[in-house]
Amino acid sequence: MSHVKIPLLGQDEGELVRFAQSLDQPAYRGRQLFEWLYKKKASTFEEMTNLSADLRSMLSEKAAVHNMTVVKRQESVDGTKKFLFELPDGLRVESVLIRSERKQKEEDGQAPSVRTTLCVSTQVGCPLDCTFCATASMGFLRNLRAGEIVGQVLSVAAATGVDISNIVFMGMGEPLMNYDEVMKSAGILIDGAGFAPRRITVSTAGWVDRIRQMADEERKIKLAVSLHSAIEATRRKLMPVTKRHSVREISDAIEYYVRRSGRDVMLEQTFFAGVNDTDEEVSALIRFSRRASCRVNVIPFHSIGNTGPTGFSATLRPSPLVETIVRRMREAKVPVFVRKSSGVDIDAACGQLAVRSPAPDETVVPA
Ligand code: SF4
Repeated sequence: MSHVKIPLLGQDEGELVRFAQSLDQPAYRGRQLFEWLYKKKASTFEEMTNLSADLRSMLSEKAAVHNMTVVKRQESVDGTKKFLFELPDGLRVESVLIRSERKQKEEDGQAPSVRTTLCVSTQVGCPLDCTFCATASMGFLRNLRAGEIVGQVLSVAAATGVDISNIVFMGMGEPLMNYDEVMKSAGILIDGAGFAPRRITVSTAGWVDRIRQMADEERKIKLAVSLHSAIEATRRKLMPVTKRHSVREISDAIEYYVRRSGRDVMLEQTFFAGVNDTDEEVSALIRFSRRASCRVNVIPFHSIGNTGPTGFSATLRPSPLVETIVRRMREAKVPVFVRKSSGVDIDAACGQLAVRSPAPDETVVPA
């Protein structure tokens, strides 16, 4: 009789200890499994050579290491790589690996000179409906489990051999709406795979209760907030989530987070011509940033014409005033970074992720 194998990826150390004990094994076998899965990145039980042959055979029968497959891999002219994963239920998500030449700040004396960041998805689709984002066109299908989030990191590391230095929860989905699984996956990446908490960033559209929860739970990972306008009426049009969590509530939550955690917050901002690049908008953004000492990351607007957005988004165009705005913000002593576009030609840039079912004539190149 066939049976469903227990997926081990996504289980934390305590759960693996209990799993080992359920097989009449001592607790340390669970800790060995934890080390093999996340630190040594084993993809089969055969690789786990300090487990007996009998135990490996029993594990193969009852459990599975990986439960997702890379079904397509694309590479941009700028070196950015996009991975399409198929999940056990046939749904698909994407991750993007971005190599940046910018020297990383020396924070621990061992920082790599080049940053290699993996942008992972946390939901299949997204329930929020940001007008500039391709993922919104998919609607919301389901939350990812911790194993499916960690699996993106381990699979990309295995497929590329790249030493991933940073992880951003900034792919498909609103991470803080999948709080428990996102925090569990971050914990596994820190405790198991050895990522420093400051190399992991969660980016939210402004899910305020969870921002406060991150502060209360003293989460050490970094927080970024997609703002895009500090004026209520504009933000409601760009990001309908603002009807639920107002600009003021988001500002209060960020201020609370910064005060409790002692860590700063990065605001993500894309400027659209005639929408949020006016004097009034820039003044509001400066006030918002100063209130909680936020830094601002300016992200270029990327076309999402391929996904056929309708209505308001069809009129969005990149602002020609970005340089002037950045200068003004710097004069106002707001720290501003301007991000370079990566992976635009393969629809891998910010706001461009959306999974279509493969068309009948589409060639899917196995990774
Ligand atoms: S920008 Fe983020 S929160 Fe908004 S629709 Fe896209 S994935 Fe969801």
